[in-house]
Amino acid sequence: PYNGPSADEILRKRKEFLSPSMFYFYEKIRNGRRYLDAFGGIATVSCGHCHPDVVDAIVNQTKHLQHSTILYLNNAITDFAEALASKLPGDLKVVFFTNSGTEANELAIMMARLYTGCHDIISLRNAYHGNAAATMSTTGQSVWKFNVVQSGVHHAINPDPYRGVFGSDGEKYAKDVEDLIQFGTSGRVAAFMSEAIQLNWLQVTCLLPYSAVRKAGGLCIADEVQSGFARTGSHFWGFENQGVVPDIVTMAKGIGNGIPLGAVVTTPEIAEVLCHSNYFNTFGGNPVCTSAGLAVLRVIEKENLQENAHVVGSYLKERLMAIKNKHEIVGDVRGRGLLLGVELVTDRKLKTPAKAETLHIMDKMKDMGVLVGKGGFRGNVFRITPPLCFTKEDADFVADVMDCAMSKI
Ligand code: PMP
Repeated sequence: PYNGPSADEILRKRKEFLSPSMFYFYEKIRNGRRYLDAFGGIATVSCGHCHPDVVDAIVNQTKHLQHSTILYLNNAITDFAEALASKLPGDLKVVFFTNSGTEANELAIMMARLYTGCHDIISLRNAYHGNAAATMSTTGQSVWKFNVVQSGVHHAINPDPYRGVFGSDGEKYAKDVEDLIQFGTSGRVAAFMSEAIQLNWLQVTCLLPYSAVRKAGGLCIADEVQSGFARTGSHFWGFENQGVVPDIVTMAKGIGNGIPLGAVVTTPEIAEVLCHSNYFNTFGGNPVCTSAGLAVLRVIEKENLQENAHVVGSYLKERLMAIKNKHEIVGDVRGRGLLLGVELVTDRKLKTPAKAETLHIMDKMKDMGVLVGKGGFRGNVFRITPPLCFTKEDADFVADVMDCAMSKI
């Protein structure tokens, strides 16, 4: 039973003491009521809320040493770095820990700029990479940008098979990357940064833009903040779905099951650039967070969560496709593993975003006990990114509730 303060009390204090810019997805979740979480803090909860192994790792480490990476020698950081490096291909063996995805991407961008001696970065329209100076520049959506100086980034056309101007023609999207390099830069670039799998990037190969960028001297950075850590089911990393090996991989969210932790993994040669001056991060890689990270990796392996994401995710996607066949309002179902999207439209031909309806259905689903996320530039896409321990029964519950909420609209 829940004995804490009421939702009204918490909301009142949020209003009074927290930044007015803070938003939240679920107003007035009812106290004492059970909900099925099909959003998992935007793909953050990888092995389930408060997984006992992760909690134990955090508690035990907290009792011994909480801080720090630079002052005291400890094995938590090296053990996790070794385990993490073993999950990555090729020369991707050097790990830098951060506290968030934004920090990881900022560091990756800086390293690419230092390594290549170039400033220009190519990223994708519709991308999200963070909210500090360089990452806000690479982010490609006005709703996540402020009017502050953002320089040196060129946004390529998003390879979106559903709405993109070139449909599923990967070569045309890759040509746009080449054109940006030819017409918008000196012909040399620092990097191409992309979410290894944007919800809508799935059917388009990464190989072509990667080779165009490398020809221009640039590095390829894969942002695995949402798509990493077994979420896509078929592979541990999103980029593996596309048959590429990036030069720098960034991660956060699912790496720590909710604890603040991020990482950049790259090759020894690229990592060298940070020796040109002093680089450190006070909390990045602290023993408590890295112990949590190691516990998460072990749980993913011990409980076969990658396989589970594949099996349950494929099953859920099938059920969502059946819902699409039944309800006109569903324009597109996409994704892989437990990284799924359902786009709602009021007119399938015109693809008119069903923004109000999305909110309404989301609310009805919440009333029936299911929490899904909402996203997309137009606010009309359900994001389904549950903990990777989701069961088929959970998937059925989500699909039944969605079907029911759509039938009532
Ligand atoms: N990259 C991606 C793909 C993300 O989804 C996010 C967070 N939504 C970030 C980077 C930034 O991570 P953080 O919020 O931890 O700074």
